[in-house]
Amino acid sequence: MDGLPAGVAPSPGEKAEERYRALAYDTALSTLAAVLVYALLKVSLDGFRQWRARIPVLVVGSGPVGLTAALVAVRSGKVLKLTVLDERCRSALLCRPQQIALDPRSVNFLLGLGVDFDNMEGCWHNEHFFTRIGVFQEYLLSILEQKKQRVDVKVQLGTKFTEEYLRRIPHGQRPRVIVVADGSCGDTCSALGISSDYTAESCHAYGANATIERLDQRQVPTPEIRAHNLYFDLSAYGVEALRELRNPGSKPGFHLKIYGTFRNRYMALTCPASDTKMVRFLRHTANSSVMKNIFHQSFNAYKTDIEPRLNDVTLHSLQCSRRLFEIQLSHRRVSAAYIEGDNVAVTVEGEAARVLNFDTGCGVNLGMRGLESVGTLIYRTATAVDQNDILEALAEKMQHSRQVAETCKHTGLVEAMYG
Ligand SMILES: Cc1cc2nc3c(=O)[nH]c(=O)nc-3n(C[C@H](O)[C@H](O)[C@H](O)COP(=O)(O)OP(=O)(O)OC[C@H]3O[C@@H](n4cnc5c(N)ncnc54)[C@H](O)[C@@H]3O)c2cc1C
Repeated sequence: MDGLPAGVAPSPGEKAEERYRALAYDTALSTLAAVLVYALLKVSLDGFRQWRARIPVLVVGSGPVGLTAALVAVRSGKVLKLTVLDERCRSALLCRPQQIALDPRSVNFLLGLGVDFDNMEGCWHNEHFFTRIGVFQEYLLSILEQKKQRVDVKVQLGTKFTEEYLRRIPHGQRPRVIVVADGSCGDTCSALGISSDYTAESCHAYGANATIERLDQRQVPTPEIRAHNLYFDLSAYGVEALRELRNPGSKPGFHLKIYGTFRNRYMALTCPASDTKMVRFLRHTANSSVMKNIFHQSFNAYKTDIEPRLNDVTLHSLQCSRRLFEIQLSHRRVSAAYIEGDNVAVTVEGEAARVLNFDTGCGVNLGMRGLESVGTLIYRTATAVDQNDILEALAEKMQHSRQVAETCKHTGLVEAMYG
């Protein structure tokens, strides 16, 4: 026995103390073991619960943004059942003539979702992918409608989302996340009771758009054309730009973009906000033929060699803004919300969330930026322990949406037009 000389028996007091110490030691050891087992069990149960967590998700709108959101949902691994709606029937949905231009960041995002650009009609130019909006939607629909999908996907085209639609879904099957991507004219947010207040912010630039439809021309994907630092001879209208040009303080000229297919040609003209004589004239002229002339001359000067010029006969097919207008970004004040009664998290995406009053020819990329945080929202909602977790996830989503709008306001036009 430690501490006692050999042959000396411990006193009863010492024996009791010894027993007490051993008991305390045993108790501490078993408490520690119990805590360890509990922690281990909790971690594995939480892990198991998170791993198993799957929720129903509803996407409203099957435009390019809605369908990409649906693919994000499928790839999140947290969706039990996915319903995708559009009020248009399939043929109306897929026949839209405009072309979309996916920039390198959107291309990478889509590659990460498994989009195979080799299997989509389109063309590459400067690391951008150009395709028809209908071709892109058809490709995404074909992935979503594949039978081997692990998620139960239901695509309901020709079905409009209304309050009534939501009420008809049995309680246990109601979506836990709704992605609203119903475009700039959709009214799904109002049906869900989400505020329709927008903030309109200036992009500190002026712009004008034009479209030309020529039914005898080809409808194939075509790279865009950009031209920079343009000046126009407006001397016929009494505007002398030459003096301004010589003035070292005068602002840079106009940026022009020609895009779309040969059949549906679009043009965008923009310049940084300034108060030069030329800009002032183009902002306030009542003569609608001035802008038409500018677009006419610019198109003929910068079009590709293989497409026909606009002449006096074909000029009637050109429609354009009457004058330069201020480019503004409108974005929803509330782009994410929690509907308490139904326990559903809502996020608003694409043009339903933010839109420029000016067509840059690559507007779809703004919608793609917002989708970068949708996967996380679905994951966090599916694995949420309580309502607080969902509210936190929504707050983070909303912050990301604001950041997308803020970045677009500061650098969007530079990327889309000036670069
Ligand atoms: C003339 C023009 C030219 C353009 N050119 C280009 C270009 O060259 N490059 C480019 O990148 N972008 C271009 N754009 C922009 C591009 O088309 C948009 O950025 C893109 O379509 C926005 O996608 P979205 O999915 O947010 O909305 P949308 O494409 O508008 O899709 C919304 C969908 O929601 C559906 N919907 C609405 N309400 C409901 C409801 N209650 N229930 C169910 N469904 C509903 C609608 O039917 C629609 O199909 C152009 C746009 C226009 C108008």
